[in-house]
Amino acid sequence: VRAWGPLLGSVLRAARHHPEATAVVDETGSRTYADLRERSAAVARALHAAGVGADHVVAVLCRNHRGPVEAMLACARLGARVLLLNTGFAAPQLADVVRRERVAALVHDADFGPVPAEVPPAVARFRTDDFDALVGSAPDREPPRPARPGSVVLLTSGTTGTPKGAQRELRSPFAAVDFLDRVPLRSREVTLIAAPVFHGIGFAHLVLGMALGSTVVLTRRFDARRTVELAARHRATALMLVPTMLRRILDLGLLELESHDLSALRVVLSSGADLPAPPAAEATRRSGDVVYDLYGSTEVAVATVATPEDLREAPGTVGRPPRTCRVGVYDEQGRRITEPGVVGRIFVGSGLRFSGYSGGGGKDTVDGLVSTGDLGHFDRHGRWFVVGQEDDMIVSGGENVYPGEVENLLATHYQVRESVVLGVPDPEFGQRLRAFVVPVPGARVDPEELKLFVRDRPARHKVPREVVLVTSLPRNATGKVLRRALR
Ligand code: ATP
Repeated sequence: VRAWGPLLGSVLRAARHHPEATAVVDETGSRTYADLRERSAAVARALHAAGVGADHVVAVLCRNHRGPVEAMLACARLGARVLLLNTGFAAPQLADVVRRERVAALVHDADFGPVPAEVPPAVARFRTDDFDALVGSAPDREPPRPARPGSVVLLTSGTTGTPKGAQRELRSPFAAVDFLDRVPLRSREVTLIAAPVFHGIGFAHLVLGMALGSTVVLTRRFDARRTVELAARHRATALMLVPTMLRRILDLGLLELESHDLSALRVVLSSGADLPAPPAAEATRRSGDVVYDLYGSTEVAVATVATPEDLREAPGTVGRPPRTCRVGVYDEQGRRITEPGVVGRIFVGSGLRFSGYSGGGGKDTVDGLVSTGDLGHFDRHGRWFVVGQEDDMIVSGGENVYPGEVENLLATHYQVRESVVLGVPDPEFGQRLRAFVVPVPGARVDPEELKLFVRDRPARHKVPREVVLVTSLPRNATGKVLRRALR
């Protein structure tokens, strides 16, 4: 692991111990760990012959399939740095990131034929669909073994600004598996990754799956029905997704869900954005204690995990930190908050060492912990709650309002499917609350009734002055609401 980086280290180890085990399954078929070892060596030879070498930045713009996995493994062999690009980026955003990160080569798949036109012509391009031809014409000569293992630069989602490249290092080889004390994953199982692998979350699941020598099932585009079919066909034991995917799976309805044998499924892990209590409870009602909610960020990876028990006992919680992580909450002056229920800034010390952004700058740190940019609190049982990102806090009439609190309240109304609360300028109060509400299908929501519903609960200043009914909310690839777009 030390020599090759976690992903390639895991594949080589698995290929030594159980070469014939299936490593990855996608629309094109399956590959064993031995296949992946040979293939990554061949792709590395081909990329090297085309001029890619140690410390070059290789951007990868792909959906979930084995192509990007082979590219990442090849780059690790060459000591190159992989930059995982978000497939949801608009072309100019993509071009900006490619320029800023000094990308030398771009690996993309057929879905992104036209988009890479935005990338400067000096950048060498490789299509994953052409890997066969590329490998066929590659010289036999092995590239030199790099002095340092290849690394991966993950981009933040750009929710609060431009996407930043987070530089991270594992503190120990076991950091990749450090939440296993909270999630019962075992070695050599079957993990279906529906979350995008270009994002920290999906990437972490890929690394973890391969560290466990499991079979990783990937699918190019998320489709709720197909995901359930795949889970049944491959007898998936774990399904890794973002909250909106869980919601869409539940929308399939009881009849459809029960027509598939999902009895092997023990873990449905949601992460990347907040998991509202109602879908978590519905999934638990249907499938038993399988739902887990992982809270983290690109910079710190895992912060906390809520187990089915946590979610049952305290709906809306993000659970507790794994044994190897430390989470603390601090006030504006940087003093640690020790009292339960008091909202402050969340800081995390995880199995990763975050060494700043590739384009410069970093995150605030305190007591060796790194800021998540979120506000939250813990309860007297040590369970954590996230109330929203710092930038989204609303100050109305001098009172702090955390949108997450109002959204969670609205989510408990039987006619509300989902909602987002924003602060809009107000001459009298500085800001006033505006809620965008998506009603459950067929519901006739009365905005005034919703206001009353919130007013009846503890805090008056949390009542949205306006309720706007919408059919859907704009979201990014990890299911986060694009508040800036709504604004
Ligand atoms: P940027 O840093 O570019 O503005 P971002 O903060 O969305 O974007 P990510 O690292 O992709 O970058 O997302 C991490 C954030 O996502 C967390 O700080 C938190 O706000 C939110 N988040 C992730 N998982 C959860 C979860 N399980 N529950 C609640 N919020 C979550």
